[in-house]
Amino acid sequence: MKALVLTRANHFEYADTPEPAVGDGDVLVRVKAVGICGSDVHGMTGKTGRRIPPIVMGHEASGIIEAVGPGVSSFSVGERVTFDSTIYCNTCEYCRSGRVNLCSRRRVLGVSCAQFVAVPQYVLYRLPDSVGFEVAALIEPVSVAFHAVRRAAMSLGESVVVFGCGLIGLLIIQAARLSGCGTLSAVDINPKRLEEARNAGADVVIDSSKSDPVAAVRQGGEGVEVGFEAVGITPTVGAAVECVRKGGRLVLVGNISPEIALGLQSVVTREIDLRGSCASAGEYPAILGMIADGRLKLQGLISAVAPLSEGGSWFQKLSEGDGQLLKVVLLPDAE
Ligand SMILES: [Zn+2]
Ligand SMILES: [Zn+2]
Repeated sequence: MKALVLTRANHFEYADTPEPAVGDGDVLVRVKAVGICGSDVHGMTGKTGRRIPPIVMGHEASGIIEAVGPGVSSFSVGERVTFDSTIYCNTCEYCRSGRVNLCSRRRVLGVSCAQFVAVPQYVLYRLPDSVGFEVAALIEPVSVAFHAVRRAAMSLGESVVVFGCGLIGLLIIQAARLSGCGTLSAVDINPKRLEEARNAGADVVIDSSKSDPVAAVRQGGEGVEVGFEAVGITPTVGAAVECVRKGGRLVLVGNISPEIALGLQSVVTREIDLRGSCASAGEYPAILGMIADGRLKLQGLISAVAPLSEGGSWFQKLSEGDGQLLKVVLLPDAE
């Protein structure tokens, strides 16, 4: 089969590779669409230490079942599916309490930039007829956004700020809206993304390169009840902390910097709850329903669709990007 192989840092080859083995309980999926994730773009430099070449990346995919392995009874050949990229053990303490994203043996299935991928049946979900493959390739980032909103344990009508209006930030805005939040402010430095934020449901958009986001969010008041940080650098986390009122919560999603400096006293003395949010845990079925009935607007977030063979240049564009591109979806079958 053909696959987009990262052969060394920043260098891809569209090459022939062996088809994946289909083990007990596995399903072989013919990939119809695969999204390029920010973490893959970051990973192609080889600097994150999480992705060591030669590898095939890509964990946001959808497709058609090509074959089923021994012991697979609930899926059959020809069904349209997507899958959760988190492979978990189903037996550890975390899995048994439903927190599969924290599984002690968790690994991310990141080999979807290829014609075929083999996945365990328990991470597979059928696509409703009305959900196309390209949009379905966005379900993983959507699940990240909904998981973050669940981590906030938001009550109806609570005011919200979202820092960072890249794909995840924009999806958090939609997810918070659908979850019944109150006034929602969005902060970014890119005017195009702020426009997208408004389309996604933000009431107030703030260009933090032009005005102080803390003053703009607080408007002389106490600040918001819930903050989401989808960047992960010192200045934005710091500003997000200051936008949250006493006793409020800040959900940390972005982590571009492995470490940041934190205004500790502000967090301690104002009893701010800082909550990490990673991947997702059980959000897929509800989200598929929301995509199918049109409540989630995803089509506009796809900036480009291209054949997998041209994937290398799209990775390059994304890494050199000026933030204009949101999601790029690659099609292994389009030649
Ligand atoms: Zn991803
Ligand atoms: Zn586990």
